[in-house]
Amino acid sequence: MESPNGVSLEWFVQSSALTYILENVEGENGKEVAEVLAEEGETTSEEIANELGMKLGPVRSVLESLYEARATDFRRSRDDETGWISFYWWLNPSGALNYLARKKRSLLQKIKEKLQYERRTVFFACKNRCTKVEFDRAVELEFRCPECGGEMHRADNDGFVCSLEEKSEKLEGNFENRVREREGKAGGGI
Ligand SMILES: [Zn+2]
Repeated sequence: MESPNGVSLEWFVQSSALTYILENVEGENGKEVAEVLAEEGETTSEEIANELGMKLGPVRSVLESLYEARATDFRRSRDDETGWISFYWWLNPSGALNYLARKKRSLLQKIKEKLQYERRTVFFACKNRCTKVEFDRAVELEFRCPECGGEMHRADNDGFVCSLEEKSEKLEGNFENRVREREGKAGGGI
């Protein structure tokens, strides 16, 4: 079944994007709930609970967690006779993919800012590397490590800069993989 924006629900249920989102979903049946939604297209939490033999509360909390990541959407429907309000839920793959893309971009931005700061700042540390401080702070401390009392010297942070660069490249690479995956060309990780 296709969602309204053309992303296949079968693809989405098996995708690394959903796996990533489910890692932050409370409870253990997130995948099963998503599978029922993919099968049914649109359904209520009561029907999902019946189908999976689950209690209503855990089903609702999965649906709400998925909604926070924009992986589900819902509409309310009021029964004219009984006045009873039902919630109909469905999977929203493109909402989830956009949510993840935004999240990834903001993470990447944070790493890049940190990287810039690390590149342009001179740090001081003792030989045990208990902590590293900027020049002004090192002067205040009279170049004595606040933790071990050892003398502080100019510390090279190339290793840390390198690891940040790697992290940033990896994230950018994964981001490209996921875009390819979305286009159905590859099954890379998130
Ligand atoms: Zn120290």
